Amino acid sequence: MLWGMAEHLRTPQRSNSRSVRLRSALEGLPHYVPGAGGANASVFKLSSNELPGPLLPAVTAAIADAAEDINRYPQMYADRLTGALAEHHGLDADQVLVGNGSVALIELILRSMCEPGDEVVYPWRSFEAYPILVQVTGAAGVQVPLSADGAHDLDAMARAITPRTRVVMVCTPNNPTSVALSHRDLVAFLERVPRQVLVLLDEAYVDFVRSPDPVRSTDLLDMYKNLMVLRTFSKAHGLAGLRVGYALGRRRLIRTLRAASTPFAVNALAQAAALAALGQVDRMRERVAEVIVERDRVVSALREQGWSIPDAQGNFYWLDVGAHARALAEDAEAAGVTVRPFQGEGVRITVGEPEANDIALAVAARWVHAGA
Ligand code: PMP
Repeated sequence: MLWGMAEHLRTPQRSNSRSVRLRSALEGLPHYVPGAGGANASVFKLSSNELPGPLLPAVTAAIADAAEDINRYPQMYADRLTGALAEHHGLDADQVLVGNGSVALIELILRSMCEPGDEVVYPWRSFEAYPILVQVTGAAGVQVPLSADGAHDLDAMARAITPRTRVVMVCTPNNPTSVALSHRDLVAFLERVPRQVLVLLDEAYVDFVRSPDPVRSTDLLDMYKNLMVLRTFSKAHGLAGLRVGYALGRRRLIRTLRAASTPFAVNALAQAAALAALGQVDRMRERVAEVIVERDRVVSALREQGWSIPDAQGNFYWLDVGAHARALAEDAEAAGVTVRPFQGEGVRITVGEPEANDIALAVAARWVHAGA
Protein backbone atom coordinates (compact mmCIF):
# COMPACT_ATOMS: atom_id res chain seq x y z
CA MET A 1 0.00 0.00 0.00
CA LEU A 2 2.68 2.43 1.07
CA TRP A 3 4.85 1.37 -1.80
CA GLY A 4 1.93 1.86 -4.13
CA MET A 5 1.50 5.45 -2.95
CA ALA A 6 5.18 6.22 -3.36
CA GLU A 7 5.11 4.74 -6.83
CA HIS A 8 2.16 6.92 -7.66
CA LEU A 9 3.98 10.03 -6.48
CA ARG A 10 6.99 9.22 -8.63
CA THR A 11 5.00 8.47 -11.77
CA PRO A 12 4.19 11.52 -13.87
CA GLN A 13 0.46 11.77 -14.35
CA ARG A 14 -0.68 10.93 -17.85
CA SER A 15 -4.41 11.05 -17.58
CA ASN A 16 -6.46 13.99 -16.40
CA SER A 17 -8.64 11.86 -14.21
CA ARG A 18 -6.59 12.59 -11.07
CA SER A 19 -5.57 16.19 -11.74
CA VAL A 20 -7.23 19.30 -10.43
CA ARG A 21 -10.12 20.16 -12.66
CA LEU A 22 -11.77 23.48 -13.33
CA ARG A 23 -15.46 23.70 -14.14
CA SER A 24 -16.15 22.65 -17.70
CA ALA A 25 -17.79 26.06 -18.30
CA LEU A 26 -14.28 27.54 -18.29
CA GLU A 27 -13.07 25.53 -21.28
CA GLY A 28 -12.13 27.72 -24.21
CA LEU A 29 -12.63 30.91 -22.22
CA PRO A 30 -11.67 33.95 -24.34
CA HIS A 31 -8.87 36.12 -22.98
CA TYR A 32 -9.37 39.81 -22.26
CA VAL A 33 -6.81 41.77 -24.26
CA PRO A 34 -5.93 44.98 -22.39
CA GLY A 35 -5.02 48.06 -24.41
CA ALA A 36 -1.31 48.13 -25.19
CA GLY A 37 1.00 50.57 -23.48
CA GLY A 38 3.72 52.15 -25.60
CA ALA A 39 7.20 50.70 -25.92
CA ASN A 40 8.50 53.83 -24.19
CA ALA A 41 7.23 56.89 -22.35
CA SER A 42 7.15 59.00 -25.50
CA VAL A 43 4.36 56.85 -26.95
CA PHE A 44 0.84 58.14 -26.13
CA LYS A 45 -1.60 55.49 -24.91
CA LEU A 46 -4.90 55.77 -26.76
CA SER A 47 -5.82 52.12 -26.29
CA SER A 48 -7.79 51.93 -23.01
CA ASN A 49 -10.25 54.84 -23.02
CA GLU A 50 -8.55 56.49 -20.08
CA LEU A 51 -8.65 60.19 -19.29
CA PRO A 52 -5.44 62.02 -20.17
CA GLY A 53 -3.87 64.27 -17.60
CA PRO A 54 -2.94 64.11 -13.93
CA LEU A 55 -5.16 63.63 -10.88
CA LEU A 56 -7.04 66.60 -9.48
CA PRO A 57 -5.04 68.00 -6.51
CA ALA A 58 -7.90 67.34 -4.06
CA VAL A 59 -7.92 63.69 -5.08
CA THR A 60 -4.15 63.36 -4.74
CA ALA A 61 -4.41 64.88 -1.25
CA ALA A 62 -7.19 62.47 -0.25
CA ILE A 63 -5.10 59.50 -1.38
CA ALA A 64 -2.07 60.75 0.57
CA ASP A 65 -4.24 61.21 3.68
CA ALA A 66 -5.77 57.76 3.39
CA ALA A 67 -2.32 56.23 2.94
CA GLU A 68 -1.52 57.20 6.56
CA ASP A 69 -4.09 54.66 7.79
CA ILE A 70 -3.28 51.88 5.42
CA ASN A 71 -2.60 49.43 8.27
CA ARG A 72 -6.38 49.49 8.86
CA TYR A 73 -9.05 47.71 6.86
CA PRO A 74 -11.26 49.99 4.81
CA GLN A 75 -14.99 50.30 5.46
CA MET A 76 -16.29 46.92 4.43
CA TYR A 77 -19.01 48.17 2.09
CA ALA A 78 -17.62 51.66 1.50
CA ASP A 79 -20.43 53.24 3.55
CA ARG A 80 -19.30 56.86 3.26
CA LEU A 81 -18.82 56.63 -0.50
CA THR A 82 -22.10 54.75 -0.85
CA GLY A 83 -23.90 57.48 1.09
CA ALA A 84 -22.29 60.23 -0.96
CA LEU A 85 -23.23 58.49 -4.22
CA ALA A 86 -26.80 58.01 -3.03
CA GLU A 87 -27.05 61.73 -2.27
CA HIS A 88 -25.42 62.63 -5.58
CA HIS A 89 -28.02 60.61 -7.50
CA GLY A 90 -30.99 61.41 -5.25
CA LEU A 91 -31.37 57.75 -4.22
CA ASP A 92 -31.26 55.76 -0.96
CA ALA A 93 -28.01 54.19 0.17
CA ASP A 94 -29.53 50.74 -0.23
CA GLN A 95 -29.99 51.43 -3.92
CA VAL A 96 -26.21 51.85 -4.38
CA LEU A 97 -23.55 49.13 -4.44
CA VAL A 98 -19.89 50.08 -4.75
CA GLY A 99 -17.44 47.60 -6.26
CA ASN A 100 -13.85 47.07 -7.28
CA GLY A 101 -14.42 48.60 -10.70
CA SER A 102 -17.70 48.20 -12.56
CA VAL A 103 -16.32 45.07 -14.20
CA ALA A 104 -16.27 43.35 -10.78
CA LEU A 105 -19.91 44.34 -10.34
CA ILE A 106 -20.85 42.87 -13.72
CA GLU A 107 -19.21 39.66 -12.54
CA LEU A 108 -21.02 39.74 -9.20
CA ILE A 109 -24.39 40.45 -10.80
CA LEU A 110 -24.03 37.76 -13.47
CA ARG A 111 -22.91 35.11 -11.01
CA SER A 112 -25.76 36.06 -8.69
CA MET A 113 -28.33 35.83 -11.48
CA CYS A 114 -27.22 33.03 -13.78
CA GLU A 115 -26.93 29.29 -13.69
CA PRO A 116 -26.03 26.75 -16.38
CA GLY A 117 -28.91 26.57 -18.82
CA ASP A 118 -29.72 30.27 -18.49
CA GLU A 119 -29.09 32.81 -21.24
CA VAL A 120 -27.63 36.30 -21.25
CA VAL A 121 -28.37 38.50 -24.25
CA TYR A 122 -25.84 41.15 -25.14
CA PRO A 123 -24.90 43.29 -28.15
CA TRP A 124 -21.83 42.37 -30.14
CA ARG A 125 -19.32 43.76 -30.63
CA SER A 126 -19.37 45.38 -27.23
CA PHE A 127 -17.23 45.43 -24.08
CA GLU A 128 -15.00 42.40 -24.34
CA ALA A 129 -15.43 41.36 -20.70
CA TYR A 130 -19.10 40.43 -21.34
CA PRO A 131 -18.53 37.08 -23.10
CA ILE A 132 -15.91 36.06 -20.54
CA LEU A 133 -18.00 36.92 -17.50
CA VAL A 134 -21.10 35.29 -18.96
CA GLN A 135 -19.27 32.09 -19.85
CA VAL A 136 -17.79 31.76 -16.36
CA THR A 137 -21.30 31.57 -14.89
CA GLY A 138 -22.10 28.58 -17.09
CA ALA A 139 -24.92 30.47 -18.78
CA ALA A 140 -25.03 30.77 -22.56
CA GLY A 141 -24.22 34.13 -24.12
CA VAL A 142 -26.57 35.19 -26.90
CA GLN A 143 -24.76 37.76 -29.02
CA VAL A 144 -26.89 40.15 -31.04
CA PRO A 145 -24.91 41.87 -33.83
CA LEU A 146 -24.80 45.67 -33.83
CA SER A 147 -26.48 47.40 -36.72
CA ALA A 148 -24.29 48.72 -39.54
CA ASP A 149 -23.93 52.14 -37.90
CA GLY A 150 -22.45 50.62 -34.71
CA ALA A 151 -25.66 51.02 -32.69
CA HIS A 152 -27.46 48.38 -30.63
CA ASP A 153 -30.10 46.57 -32.65
CA LEU A 154 -32.67 46.84 -29.87
CA ASP A 155 -35.37 45.22 -31.92
CA ALA A 156 -33.23 42.12 -32.51
CA MET A 157 -32.18 42.14 -28.84
CA ALA A 158 -35.81 42.15 -27.70
CA ARG A 159 -36.53 39.29 -30.08
CA ALA A 160 -33.54 37.32 -28.74
CA ILE A 161 -35.12 37.14 -25.25
CA THR A 162 -36.47 33.67 -24.45
CA PRO A 163 -37.91 32.09 -21.30
CA ARG A 164 -34.30 31.16 -20.41
CA THR A 165 -33.02 34.74 -20.52
CA ARG A 166 -32.01 36.10 -17.11
CA VAL A 167 -30.04 39.20 -18.04
CA VAL A 168 -29.80 41.57 -21.00
CA MET A 169 -26.69 43.75 -21.19
CA VAL A 170 -27.02 47.20 -22.73
CA CYS A 171 -23.94 49.36 -23.21
CA THR A 172 -24.34 53.06 -23.90
CA PRO A 173 -22.19 54.58 -25.30
CA ASN A 174 -21.16 51.24 -26.71
CA ASN A 175 -17.56 50.18 -26.33
CA PRO A 176 -15.96 50.08 -28.93
CA THR A 177 -18.20 51.84 -31.48
CA SER A 178 -18.98 54.84 -29.18
CA VAL A 179 -22.61 55.07 -30.31
CA ALA A 180 -25.16 56.03 -27.62
CA LEU A 181 -28.79 55.08 -27.23
CA SER A 182 -31.51 57.71 -26.99
CA HIS A 183 -33.74 57.85 -23.91
CA ARG A 184 -36.77 57.23 -26.07
CA ASP A 185 -35.34 54.09 -27.67
CA LEU A 186 -34.22 52.74 -24.31
CA VAL A 187 -37.67 53.24 -22.80
CA ALA A 188 -39.30 51.55 -25.79
CA PHE A 189 -36.91 48.64 -25.29
CA LEU A 190 -37.57 48.40 -21.54
CA GLU A 191 -41.28 48.18 -22.32
CA ARG A 192 -40.57 45.05 -24.36
CA VAL A 193 -38.40 43.26 -21.77
CA PRO A 194 -40.26 40.88 -19.45
CA ARG A 195 -40.17 42.06 -15.83
CA GLN A 196 -38.28 39.00 -14.60
CA VAL A 197 -35.33 39.73 -16.93
CA LEU A 198 -32.68 42.07 -15.53
CA VAL A 199 -31.54 44.86 -17.84
CA LEU A 200 -27.97 45.74 -16.93
CA LEU A 201 -27.31 49.19 -18.35
CA ASP A 202 -23.58 49.79 -18.57
CA GLU A 203 -23.00 53.56 -18.59
CA ALA A 204 -19.23 53.62 -18.15
CA TYR A 205 -18.97 56.58 -20.57
CA VAL A 206 -22.17 58.42 -19.66
CA ASP A 207 -20.45 61.73 -18.83
CA PHE A 208 -19.19 62.14 -22.39
CA VAL A 209 -22.63 61.95 -24.01
CA ARG A 210 -23.84 65.08 -25.82
CA SER A 211 -26.62 63.61 -27.96
CA PRO A 212 -30.01 65.32 -28.35
CA ASP A 213 -32.02 62.85 -26.23
CA PRO A 214 -29.54 61.40 -23.72
CA VAL A 215 -30.52 58.46 -21.54
CA ARG A 216 -31.68 59.59 -18.09
CA SER A 217 -31.23 56.23 -16.47
CA THR A 218 -31.73 57.15 -12.83
CA ASP A 219 -35.18 58.57 -13.69
CA LEU A 220 -36.16 55.09 -14.88
CA LEU A 221 -35.26 53.11 -11.77
CA ASP A 222 -38.61 53.60 -10.03
CA MET A 223 -40.60 52.64 -13.07
CA TYR A 224 -38.53 49.64 -14.18
CA LYS A 225 -37.69 47.44 -11.20
CA ASN A 226 -35.71 45.12 -13.45
CA LEU A 227 -33.27 47.89 -14.46
CA MET A 228 -29.81 48.15 -12.95
CA VAL A 229 -27.37 50.92 -13.89
CA LEU A 230 -23.58 50.61 -13.82
CA ARG A 231 -21.23 53.55 -13.50
CA THR A 232 -17.49 53.89 -12.96
CA PHE A 233 -14.86 56.29 -11.67
CA SER A 234 -12.42 54.91 -14.26
CA LYS A 235 -13.35 57.10 -17.21
CA ALA A 236 -14.60 60.68 -16.69
CA HIS A 237 -13.11 60.83 -13.17
CA GLY A 238 -9.78 59.50 -14.40
CA LEU A 239 -9.35 56.92 -11.61
CA ALA A 240 -8.97 53.74 -13.69
CA GLY A 241 -5.94 52.59 -11.71
CA LEU A 242 -7.82 52.66 -8.40
CA ARG A 243 -10.78 50.49 -9.50
CA VAL A 244 -14.06 51.94 -8.28
CA GLY A 245 -17.43 51.39 -9.92
CA TYR A 246 -21.00 51.26 -8.66
CA ALA A 247 -24.39 49.84 -9.43
CA LEU A 248 -27.73 51.58 -8.92
CA GLY A 249 -30.90 49.58 -8.67
CA ARG A 250 -33.77 48.18 -6.72
CA ARG A 251 -33.27 47.96 -2.94
CA ARG A 252 -34.06 44.27 -2.63
CA LEU A 253 -31.59 43.29 -5.36
CA ILE A 254 -28.85 45.63 -4.17
CA ARG A 255 -29.11 44.43 -0.57
CA THR A 256 -28.69 40.79 -1.59
CA LEU A 257 -25.89 41.57 -4.03
CA ARG A 258 -24.10 43.44 -1.25
CA ALA A 259 -24.36 40.36 0.97
CA ALA A 260 -22.99 38.19 -1.85
CA SER A 261 -20.10 40.57 -2.68
CA THR A 262 -16.45 40.19 -1.70
CA PRO A 263 -15.88 41.70 1.76
CA PHE A 264 -13.58 44.76 1.70
CA ALA A 265 -13.60 44.68 -2.13
CA VAL A 266 -12.85 48.39 -2.50
CA ASN A 267 -9.54 49.43 -0.98
CA ALA A 268 -9.13 52.40 1.33
CA LEU A 269 -7.25 54.60 -1.15
CA ALA A 270 -9.89 53.98 -3.78
CA GLN A 271 -12.73 54.84 -1.39
CA ALA A 272 -11.03 58.06 -0.31
CA ALA A 273 -10.16 59.08 -3.87
CA ALA A 274 -13.64 58.41 -5.21
CA LEU A 275 -15.19 60.39 -2.36
CA ALA A 276 -12.88 63.32 -3.08
CA ALA A 277 -13.58 63.04 -6.81
CA LEU A 278 -17.30 63.21 -6.12
CA GLY A 279 -16.67 66.49 -4.31
CA GLN A 280 -14.98 67.78 -7.48
CA VAL A 281 -17.68 67.02 -10.01
CA ASP A 282 -17.43 70.50 -11.52
CA ARG A 283 -13.73 70.05 -12.21
CA MET A 284 -14.46 66.64 -13.68
CA ARG A 285 -17.05 68.20 -15.99
CA GLU A 286 -14.55 70.83 -17.14
CA ARG A 287 -12.07 68.13 -18.06
CA VAL A 288 -14.73 66.10 -19.79
CA ALA A 289 -15.71 69.23 -21.76
CA GLU A 290 -12.10 69.49 -22.98
CA VAL A 291 -12.19 65.88 -24.14
CA ILE A 292 -15.45 66.53 -25.97
CA VAL A 293 -13.98 69.54 -27.79
CA GLU A 294 -11.11 67.32 -28.90
CA ARG A 295 -13.46 64.46 -29.84
CA ASP A 296 -15.53 66.73 -32.03
CA ARG A 297 -12.44 68.22 -33.66
CA VAL A 298 -11.00 64.77 -34.42
CA VAL A 299 -14.24 63.27 -35.71
CA SER A 300 -14.84 66.26 -38.02
CA ALA A 301 -11.29 66.03 -39.32
CA LEU A 302 -11.70 62.31 -39.95
CA ARG A 303 -14.92 62.91 -41.88
CA GLU A 304 -13.10 65.52 -43.95
CA GLN A 305 -10.46 62.91 -44.70
CA GLY A 306 -13.27 60.75 -46.09
CA TRP A 307 -13.97 58.44 -43.16
CA SER A 308 -17.45 57.32 -42.30
CA ILE A 309 -17.39 57.45 -38.48
CA PRO A 310 -20.21 56.24 -36.22
CA ASP A 311 -21.58 59.01 -33.99
CA ALA A 312 -18.94 59.13 -31.22
CA GLN A 313 -20.50 59.80 -27.80
CA GLY A 314 -17.79 58.26 -25.60
CA ASN A 315 -14.19 59.44 -25.17
CA PHE A 316 -13.21 57.29 -28.15
CA TYR A 317 -14.06 56.68 -31.79
CA TRP A 318 -14.24 53.71 -34.11
CA LEU A 319 -12.53 53.17 -37.44
CA ASP A 320 -14.22 50.44 -39.43
CA VAL A 321 -11.14 48.97 -41.15
CA GLY A 322 -11.91 45.24 -40.96
CA ALA A 323 -8.89 43.16 -41.92
CA HIS A 324 -6.54 46.16 -41.71
CA ALA A 325 -7.05 46.66 -37.97
CA ARG A 326 -3.78 45.16 -36.80
CA ALA A 327 -1.73 46.81 -39.53
CA LEU A 328 -3.23 50.20 -38.69
CA ALA A 329 -2.44 49.66 -35.01
CA GLU A 330 1.18 48.82 -35.86
CA ASP A 331 1.46 51.89 -38.02
CA ALA A 332 -0.01 53.98 -35.18
CA GLU A 333 2.46 52.65 -32.65
CA ALA A 334 5.38 53.39 -34.97
CA ALA A 335 3.98 56.92 -35.29
CA GLY A 336 3.76 57.37 -31.50
CA VAL A 337 0.27 56.30 -30.32
CA THR A 338 -1.08 52.92 -29.22
CA VAL A 339 -4.65 52.14 -30.27
CA ARG A 340 -6.89 49.09 -29.76
CA PRO A 341 -7.29 46.85 -32.83
CA PHE A 342 -10.05 44.24 -33.17
CA GLN A 343 -8.68 42.28 -36.08
CA GLY A 344 -11.27 41.70 -38.79
CA GLU A 345 -13.50 44.43 -37.40
CA GLY A 346 -11.93 47.78 -36.71
CA VAL A 347 -9.83 49.97 -34.47
CA ARG A 348 -10.91 51.86 -31.34
CA ILE A 349 -8.99 55.04 -30.59
CA THR A 350 -9.26 57.01 -27.34
CA VAL A 351 -9.45 60.79 -27.45
CA GLY A 352 -6.30 61.89 -25.67
CA GLU A 353 -4.02 64.90 -25.52
CA PRO A 354 -4.27 67.19 -28.61
CA GLU A 355 -0.78 66.16 -29.68
CA ALA A 356 -1.70 62.48 -29.49
CA ASN A 357 -4.93 63.11 -31.40
CA ASP A 358 -2.97 64.85 -34.16
CA ILE A 359 -0.74 61.79 -34.51
CA ALA A 360 -3.82 59.56 -34.69
CA LEU A 361 -5.27 61.83 -37.38
CA ALA A 362 -2.07 61.67 -39.43
CA VAL A 363 -2.11 57.86 -39.18
CA ALA A 364 -5.81 57.69 -40.11
CA ALA A 365 -5.17 59.78 -43.22
CA ARG A 366 -2.93 56.98 -44.52
CA TRP A 367 -5.70 54.38 -44.08
CA VAL A 368 -8.77 56.11 -45.46
CA HIS A 369 -8.84 53.68 -48.40
CA ALA A 370 -9.21 50.80 -45.90
CA GLY A 371 -12.35 52.29 -44.32
CA ALA A 372 -15.71 50.82 -45.23
N1 PMP B 1 -17.99 48.90 -19.07
C1 PMP B 1 -17.44 49.32 -20.20
C2 PMP B 1 -18.33 49.55 -21.38
C3 PMP B 1 -16.07 49.55 -20.29
O1 PMP B 1 -15.53 49.97 -21.43
C4 PMP B 1 -15.27 49.33 -19.14
C5 PMP B 1 -13.78 49.55 -19.13
N2 PMP B 1 -13.11 49.44 -20.27
C6 PMP B 1 -15.89 48.88 -18.01
C7 PMP B 1 -17.25 48.67 -17.98
C8 PMP B 1 -15.12 48.55 -16.77
O2 PMP B 1 -14.74 49.66 -16.10
P1 PMP B 1 -14.11 49.57 -14.63
O3 PMP B 1 -12.78 50.19 -14.77
O4 PMP B 1 -15.05 50.35 -13.78
O5 PMP B 1 -14.05 48.14 -14.25
